[in-house]
Amino acid sequence: KARNIAIYGKGGIGKSTTSSNLSAAFSDLGLKVMQIGCDPKSDSTNNLRGGKSIPSVLDALRSRKRIEIEDIVHDGFNGIKCIEAGGPEPGVGCAGRGIITAIELLKQKNVFEEFKPDIVIYDVLGDVVCGGFSIPIREGVAEQVYTVASSDFMAIYAANNLFKGIRKYANSGGALFSGIIANSMNQPIQKDIINDFAKHTQTTVAGYVPRSLDVTRSELRGQTVIEHAPDSEQAELYRELARSILNNDQKYVPAPLESDDLKVWAESWSDTLLRNRENEEKIKTTE
Ligand code: ATP
Ligand code: MG
Repeated sequence: KARNIAIYGKGGIGKSTTSSNLSAAFSDLGLKVMQIGCDPKSDSTNNLRGGKSIPSVLDALRSRKRIEIEDIVHDGFNGIKCIEAGGPEPGVGCAGRGIITAIELLKQKNVFEEFKPDIVIYDVLGDVVCGGFSIPIREGVAEQVYTVASSDFMAIYAANNLFKGIRKYANSGGALFSGIIANSMNQPIQKDIINDFAKHTQTTVAGYVPRSLDVTRSELRGQTVIEHAPDSEQAELYRELARSILNNDQKYVPAPLESDDLKVWAESWSDTLLRNRENEEKIKTTE
């Protein structure tokens, strides 16, 4: 049976970058990988396909032709199967609803039986305020949920909302949480912030990924770091993350902070950052 993983996180936080690099790393380990973009932008798999986007499942549906599997499943780096759920035309219709329709069609067409992937990554936009985006959690499509978050408060806020969504569906067979993927970790204090947030929400951190120009450089070629800069430190970090995700069987219900508690938590970190800054300035003036 395939291992189904959903990756959530605030807009622009690095979900597609992380998903694509993980997919590439998994396939390097010899696994059969499928990546499903659940974002109306349909750009999740671009870096597995030289920067080129693929027609989405909803595009195929709209064409009203008989849909063949080749219309919706496209080969990417190392034979990774790339799928984009797609979305409604901008300004019309519900994007979440589109994901439901797309996933139903994949099942109808026996896409999973046909390719028998070892691992399927769902790259899911945003938090779970919209019903459709909660589908991979709610309907048991994915068994393990990860979130990409940085130490920025809005990323943490979105992660906390995701935890609320998971808690809500946990008793009715919904997916459970498996860890935070900490992205853009370049200073020790950013790790401290994420670690402390994990502690307060009874969650775990699956791995730390720094911001790196190797990612930028590879993306400009429409590639993952695994493909474009395989010998870089960043590629090794993604491989390490892939291995720890493969070995991670943890599944649990997180304990999200209530909004007042989240505010208190955030303010205490603001105070810590101010104190750190004052200390740094003191050191500078005594030098
Ligand atoms: P969206 O919500 O719009 O789908 P996303 O969460 O999928 O966004 P990405 O598209 O993966 O985010 O990343 C946004 C930008 O940040 C990209 O240009 C990407 O290259 C960059 N980025 C993400 N993670 C890193 C990193 N670790 N190092 C360097 N750049 C990064
Ligand atoms: Mg994305």
